[in-house]
Amino acid sequence: MQAPTIGGVQVPRGDGTTIVQVRQGASLTDFADKINANPASLVTVLFHLGEMATATQSLDEDTFKVLGSELGYDIRMVSPEEEEKELFDSFNIDLEFGVDSEDEDDLEARPPVVTVMGHVDHGKTRLLDAIRNANVQAGEAGGITQHIGAYQIHREHEGVDRPITFIDTPGHEAFTAMRARGAKVTDIAILVVAADDGVMPQTIEALNHAQAADVPIVVAVNKIDVEGANPAKIRQQLTEYNLVAEEYGGETMFVDVSAKQGQNIEELLEAVLLTADAALDLRANPDRDARGVAIEANLDKGRGATATVLIQSGTLRVGDAIVTGSSYGRVRAMLDEHGNQVPEATPSRPVQVLGLSSVPRAGDTFVVAPDDRTARQIAEKREAADRQASLAKARKRISLEDLNQALAAGKVDTLNLILKGDVSGSVEALEDALLQIDVGDDVDLRIIDRGVGAITMNNINLAMASNAIIIGFNVRAEGQNADYAEREGVEIRYYSVIYQAIEEIEAALKGMLKPEFEEVELGTAEIREIFRSSKFGNIAGSIVRSGEIKRGSKARITRDGVVIAENVEIAGLRRFKDDVTEVREGYECGINLGSFNDLQLGDLIATYEMREKPRA
Ligand code: GDP
Repeated sequence: MQAPTIGGVQVPRGDGTTIVQVRQGASLTDFADKINANPASLVTVLFHLGEMATATQSLDEDTFKVLGSELGYDIRMVSPEEEEKELFDSFNIDLEFGVDSEDEDDLEARPPVVTVMGHVDHGKTRLLDAIRNANVQAGEAGGITQHIGAYQIHREHEGVDRPITFIDTPGHEAFTAMRARGAKVTDIAILVVAADDGVMPQTIEALNHAQAADVPIVVAVNKIDVEGANPAKIRQQLTEYNLVAEEYGGETMFVDVSAKQGQNIEELLEAVLLTADAALDLRANPDRDARGVAIEANLDKGRGATATVLIQSGTLRVGDAIVTGSSYGRVRAMLDEHGNQVPEATPSRPVQVLGLSSVPRAGDTFVVAPDDRTARQIAEKREAADRQASLAKARKRISLEDLNQALAAGKVDTLNLILKGDVSGSVEALEDALLQIDVGDDVDLRIIDRGVGAITMNNINLAMASNAIIIGFNVRAEGQNADYAEREGVEIRYYSVIYQAIEEIEAALKGMLKPEFEEVELGTAEIREIFRSSKFGNIAGSIVRSGEIKRGSKARITRDGVVIAENVEIAGLRRFKDDVTEVREGYECGINLGSFNDLQLGDLIATYEMREKPRA
């Protein structure tokens, strides 16, 4: 049987039970990939179902369901987590871990992982320092010399040596960013509140974030050394937020500390351990392939991509093949916070890992793979998925190509540029030349920053904050920075010839950069009868199947899905005896296709228009 066509396009069909998985936020292009169809055809089909969408726009579940049922597919939307699980299932890697999903006998106690949160200037950083130093005094050899994003200290508790892991990025932003990416790293939050200041907006925010994540809180009432500090008032204030101190009959431990004077730090650590023991079942299976989360990552000049990972389950060893985010590799070496090499890392231990192919993102999960090849394959699949997701998402904030549209739409009235070059001479020359461009009255061209050297994170942040485009003249943004710009939609243009830069920017300002067009279908009609007219040539008696047919528009004629003519004009359009300009879906009409006369019953006339393509 011939596959039926919709709107003149042929799309591979399912039988109604064919299951197709589509990730949340996917576009028609993603779906087209899965069923081996042309994305443009799906745009057409969807249009016939009454929905307009571009090929790369991300669609909701309902829209996919409607499209799926039309085409005979049972569409299942999957979350990124489900997709991830499936990816690992396909390599026979078990992602399940933890107290609820593992055998009691395999579980062993693991240290708590702590994040310090609170209002700005209440002493989070100072407290993390104090904890680190207290431990040095307590006899930790060498002291903590390296910043690797997390550190572990030891404390004797009821005669047992108890390690505690601290995430060395204070604040709830990083905590929440990681959570947003599905990584639950923190077991306990220390909420720092300055006794001389009291509960502040970020105190409440931090508290809300911790409570939302179901993470127990220990309150450190800090700066008790300051005159006029009132720790009792903090306890009072926090009762309003369901944090009732133990001494008032509640469940939350409050410890008065001075991070500056190192006062009561031991008591705070004690409170963390007591809270952990009372509220949490912190156990993990050390005897399996490791998995965990990347909490910090860097590109190091000498050592390449490094990542600090926190082990959540299993034991990581030098030589293991690992994959984290879309980065992979073999663990070449592992360093602890003292800068010492360690051969293995057990649950709750943070280690800096050397040997990755690229820099992962904070919050990326990492998993040990059976071998290098599998690690690479998983990384590649993830990268492809990431690319799709970011394609659907990241539009450039502002780009040279669509500058003119943005200007016309009143979205911007200034082109902000940041210039970076290899030598100051070329930056100056470029700046001079740019400022001489005659931009007319409607637009301003401003150079908001300039400098020599590679494009830095700071440059990108400034570009984000002020909607600027970065010009790199013989310099580039590399590694992490390039990724960051890409992810945040900051356009960076690279040049090595000054006049080329000038030309392109001038063209952009004048709207002369060539736009790209894409076809948008307007309507389709099916030929039901053919009238021969000596005066007009053939008239196609048709019924409009979708959208509307407009006089003067361009049409494509298809016969059983095969194109037999392109670029044919709708020269005349009639309803009964009247000339009309347009006819809508469901109505009959007579269509005159000018000199095109090769018509047959059942032919489909599809009209379209070329529209400027929104640029990704
Ligand atoms: P963060 O923004 O929460 O990380 O706060 P910081 O740790 O940077 O501390 C902010 C300011 O408060 C710094 O000047 C610290 O030296 C000071 N500070 C922190 N803890 C104490 C303390 O216990 N007593 C006193 N007097 N000052 C402190």
